[in-house]
Amino acid sequence: MRLLVVYDNNAKPGFESGWGFSCLIEPDNKKDTNKNSNKKILFDTGDNPDKLLFNLKKLEINPKDIDILIISHEHWDHTGGLKGILRVNPKIKVIMPNAFSEPTEVEEGLGIYTTGPLLNSVVEQSLVVKTSKGNLVITGCAHPGLKKILQAASKLGNIYGILGGFHGFSDYEVLKNIELIAPCHCTQHIREIKKHFPENYKELMAGSVIEV
Ligand SMILES: [Zn+2]
Ligand SMILES: [Zn+2]
Repeated sequence: MRLLVVYDNNAKPGFESGWGFSCLIEPDNKKDTNKNSNKKILFDTGDNPDKLLFNLKKLEINPKDIDILIISHEHWDHTGGLKGILRVNPKIKVIMPNAFSEPTEVEEGLGIYTTGPLLNSVVEQSLVVKTSKGNLVITGCAHPGLKKILQAASKLGNIYGILGGFHGFSDYEVLKNIELIAPCHCTQHIREIKKHFPENYKELMAGSVIEV
C-alpha cells in the first residue's frame, strides 16, 4: 500500500504548503482479484483547491482517477479543496462522517475503514487502512483525542502506525506500542513526540510518500 501526503502545513521543495491536511491512499490488495484493488482514495483536501490540484499533479495523480473522497470533519482546512476536486471530478464518491458510531469498511473489499464519527468539539472520523504490517490509522485534526481514536481503531486489529494531525496531543504513553508515528499538520508537540519516540518517528509533509 502506498500513501502520498498531498497537503500539509509544510512541504518538500517543489510542492505547495498550506494550512490543512490531505493524503492519497492506494490500498494494496494485489494478492486478490478484488475489483477494488486499483482504487485511489483521497482523505481530506487541505484549505486551498488550487494548491491541492497543484500538489496532486506534482505527485503524478490525475484527480479524475480518484474514486473516493473521505472527509474527516467539517473544518475549512480539511474541506477547502473539495470544490477543486469536484470541479475536475464531479462523479467522485464523497463520504462525510455519518451517523453510525462504529467502524465500517468504506467499500467491501477495499481494506479501508472509518472509525465512525467520534465526538469532541466537532464530529470527526479517522481512517484505518489494512497493511501487511498491521493497521495504519490516519487522522485529520484528531479533535476527539488520539486515545479515543486509537481505542476505536483497535477494534479492527493490531495498529502498526498512526499519521496525520495530532492537535494538542501530549499523552505520549498512548503511542508506546506503535511502530510508525508520523505527526504533521496541526500537531502542536511534534518535537516532544520525536523526543519520546526517536526510532518510530517519521517526518511527514506535502510530497512525502509512505510505502508499507
Ligand atoms: Zn486541521
Ligand atoms: Zn479541525
